[in-house]
Amino acid sequence: MPPLLKLDDVYAQYITRYGTVYAVNGVSLEIGEGEILGIVGESGCGKSTLARVMMMNVKPPLHLVRGRVLLQGVELNRLPRDRLKREVWGKQVSLVPQSVMNALNPTMRVRDIIRDFVKVHNPELDDDEVYSMARDRFEELGLDIRALDLYPFELSGGMRQRVAIAIATLLNPKLLIADEPTSALDVSTQKVVLKLLKRLWNEGIVKSIVFITHDIAVVRQIATRIAVMYAGKIVEVGPLEEVIFKPLHPYTELLISSILTPEPEVKKRGLVEIRGAPPDLRTPPRGCPFAERCPYATDRCRREEPRPVVIGSRLIYCHLRGGGAA
Ligand code: SF4
Repeated sequence: MPPLLKLDDVYAQYITRYGTVYAVNGVSLEIGEGEILGIVGESGCGKSTLARVMMMNVKPPLHLVRGRVLLQGVELNRLPRDRLKREVWGKQVSLVPQSVMNALNPTMRVRDIIRDFVKVHNPELDDDEVYSMARDRFEELGLDIRALDLYPFELSGGMRQRVAIAIATLLNPKLLIADEPTSALDVSTQKVVLKLLKRLWNEGIVKSIVFITHDIAVVRQIATRIAVMYAGKIVEVGPLEEVIFKPLHPYTELLISSILTPEPEVKKRGLVEIRGAPPDLRTPPRGCPFAERCPYATDRCRREEPRPVVIGSRLIYCHLRGGGAA
């Protein structure tokens, strides 16, 4: 069975008259049916651009300059934007964007936002059918149906986030991409949002989730597998517990050691700071992108980009693990 979504050697760049930003650089990744993939990395590493590429919501100044995006074997990168809008977005792949407030039209009540969203895909439904569908889904997810009559600004931050997730999954897309869905929320509201996502997944309303975050402690609570991103590249992928407890890439190791976590195995490694800053993606470095910050970097690391190395069910891009010249 092909993976639900497959990125094959994808390069995406913002091309402007002021220069090019190399936001996604050679990412290959598979998302299987039934998994929650956490994508984690510092801000500015290309995570949100990768989310847009995953559903081929790519328009200037962003360009897909190389690679393929396959949804169950269908090349999304070959479909025109109007077909993607009609047949793919919302129906097969849905995105909860980082800025929910901007995504929900502030001048419309939630019920009208839902009506417009559903009718793009199901123009044959009348308003009453759409509202009844929305009411049923809100009840199923334990959301207060009174929110349907409110404007987005009348909702609390947590409720707004949950409403955005409910709308994004109203048509039961196979894949939900949630971009930093908990970053602006306090810890207890974060838990409520994570619970909602888990519920959608457990009940089969969505088959798989891509959960994007800068916070490895949050991803720990929901993901089944984790991909660590740095400077537009994936540097390590593997099952969540393995990556957390035995990171094989130096960046993953430092990322985990830089957070406070209740896990004693992680805690005993001590809290460390990742010195330096990520490279400027307008001028990405040669060789390994982490070389300037890596405590193990050698001349070879600065010269040669590491190739992927498979170790068990993990994939690591690091010379320390045997990644030869690209
Ligand atoms: Fe560090 Fe070299 Fe591995 Fe890059 S390739 S992470 S610089 S050891």
